[in-house]
Amino acid sequence: MKRIVYLLLALLGITSLTYGFFHFHGSNAIHYVNSATLKGNHFYQNGWYYDGNDWAYVRNGHKLTRNRTINNVQYHFNQNGIQILPYRVNHQYELSANQGSTLQANNKYIILHDVGSEATGTQAASYMQRTAIPNRVYTNFIVGNNGIVYQIKRPSIVSWGAGTEANNNSAAQIELGRSQTQSGFEQDYKTYILLARDLAEKYSIPLTLDAGKADTRGLKSHLWVTQNLWGDHQDPYGYLKEHGISKKQLASDLANGI
Ligand SMILES: [Zn+2]
Repeated sequence: MKRIVYLLLALLGITSLTYGFFHFHGSNAIHYVNSATLKGNHFYQNGWYYDGNDWAYVRNGHKLTRNRTINNVQYHFNQNGIQILPYRVNHQYELSANQGSTLQANNKYIILHDVGSEATGTQAASYMQRTAIPNRVYTNFIVGNNGIVYQIKRPSIVSWGAGTEANNNSAAQIELGRSQTQSGFEQDYKTYILLARDLAEKYSIPLTLDAGKADTRGLKSHLWVTQNLWGDHQDPYGYLKEHGISKKQLASDLANGI
């Protein structure tokens, strides 16, 4: 029996090493984390680690598993310590590591957009993937098609959605794709809020909308960027209003969740 357990641990250790995420360390093989290794290869912030696909939270050198409360927020982790996200992420339209910026962004803002056309999430994501480099425009995420998150560039890497100062200071920029139905909109909107809140909590960015001037951290609309930093875009308020969501409602949903 003991031999089988060791064999299983060894297999898990080998699998894990291929991801560079775990260190084989006796009976703690699955959950032990060498933070120095992770800091070199993965985004790290306040105990959160992100390898481009999966989030993990490390406390005392070990990844948390099961249901956990971190800074008053409830999270779910599987037995390997990978967070089970409350939304679905699709990587089909993601830019490769050498496409677009390679710079690490400051965790000052998360910027909220809408796509500004009639494009659905997949249409906008596909277009962005094809044109990001020639047009020098992309965001980290597009939400659409009934609440799916399309990742274009991992969070923490600078995106090109709102001018240099906003881009360099945004942990993520999120687009909302168009929906032709109210029920589709509601699923997209709910995911948009979930994603913005989840990222803000991980980066310790305040859940305030459009508060203060350039030096105030928080969630910001593209309109706020125009008013306080640069540019002329006014999204996402026009599209949200078409579906009955006021700025006040958006602020409340971001602050409290849906
Ligand atoms: Zn915008």
